[in-house]
Amino acid sequence: GRKSGSEFSLHAIPGVDVQHANAARMYDYALNGDHNFKIDREVADQVFAVMPSGPAVARSNRAFLRRAVEFCVDEGIDQFLDLGSGIPTRGNTHEIAQVRNPDARVVYVDNEPVAAAHTRQLLQGNPNAAMVQADVRDPAAVLAAEPTRELLDFSRPVGVLMVAVLHYVSDADGIEDMLAAYRGQCSRGSFLVVSHTTQDHVPDKARALREVLAKSGTEVTHRDHAGVRAVFDGWRLVEPGVVWTPQWRGPQPEPDDPAPEESETWCGVAELI
Ligand code: SAM
Repeated sequence: GRKSGSEFSLHAIPGVDVQHANAARMYDYALNGDHNFKIDREVADQVFAVMPSGPAVARSNRAFLRRAVEFCVDEGIDQFLDLGSGIPTRGNTHEIAQVRNPDARVVYVDNEPVAAAHTRQLLQGNPNAAMVQADVRDPAAVLAAEPTRELLDFSRPVGVLMVAVLHYVSDADGIEDMLAAYRGQCSRGSFLVVSHTTQDHVPDKARALREVLAKSGTEVTHRDHAGVRAVFDGWRLVEPGVVWTPQWRGPQPEPDDPAPEESETWCGVAELI
C-alpha cells in the first residue's frame, strides 16, 4: 500500500501549509511517495473515490515525461526548464537527461514549499541542476530568477516542460499570455513538452472531480483535445501529435493494458521552427 508521510521533517519546511491539501503532495501520495500530510491523503482518497484511476494516471504521466525527455536529449537538447516539476520521485528530469548527457542542465520550478525543499536537498552537489520556487504563471519571475539565468542559455534550444501542470492554470489566469511569454524566450530548435489531464472520455466524472478538488481549494481546468492542441500554438508538433500518454512513442501495448484513454491525459511534444 501507499506509505504514510514523514510528518516531522516536513513540518520544519518554512511556508508549508498543512491545513489544506496540496496538489504536489497529493500527486506524491499517488506515486507512493512519503512527502505528504494527513490532509493530502484524505483529500487524495476522496479524489480516488471518484477517480480510481488516479495512481495509474500519475504513473502513465510520469512514463511519458521520461520518454519525452529522452526524446529531447536525443534531439540534442541539453538544457531544460521543468515548470511545475513537483516533489522529486523516481526518474526526475535531470536524472533522465544526465544519464544520456552528463552535462545536461535542468532548472526546476514549483511554487509548493515541500516540492522546493526536497528538490533542493536532492540537488545538493549537482552544479548542473537547480530549483526556483516561483509561480509558473509569472514567466517574468521564473526567467529572471538567478538559477534560470545562470544555468539556461535561451540563445540556444531549450526543452520547456509543462507536464501535468497546466490544469492549474485557468483561462482567466491568462494561459495564452503565459505560453506566449515562454515561447517568446525560446530560440528555434527548442522543444515544448506538455501533458494535460482531461475528462474527454468521462465527462460525467469531471464535475464530481472538480467539486472534490474545489473543496480542498484546488481549482482544476480540464482541457479537451482541441484545448491541448491550442497550447502548442506557434510550435510544430512532432509525431504522433497530441495523443493519450501511453500512445506517445510508448512501448507496444500488451493485451492486458488498460485502454489508452484510461490515462485521462493528453500529451504532445513540439518544436519551435
Ligand atoms: N511535472 C511533474 C510530473 O508531471 O510528474 C509534477 C506534476 S504535479 C501533478 C503538479 C505540480 O505543479 C505540483 O508540484 C504543483 O505544486 C505544481 N504547481 C501547480 N500550480 C503551480 C503554479 N502556479 N506555479 C508553480 N507550480 C505549480
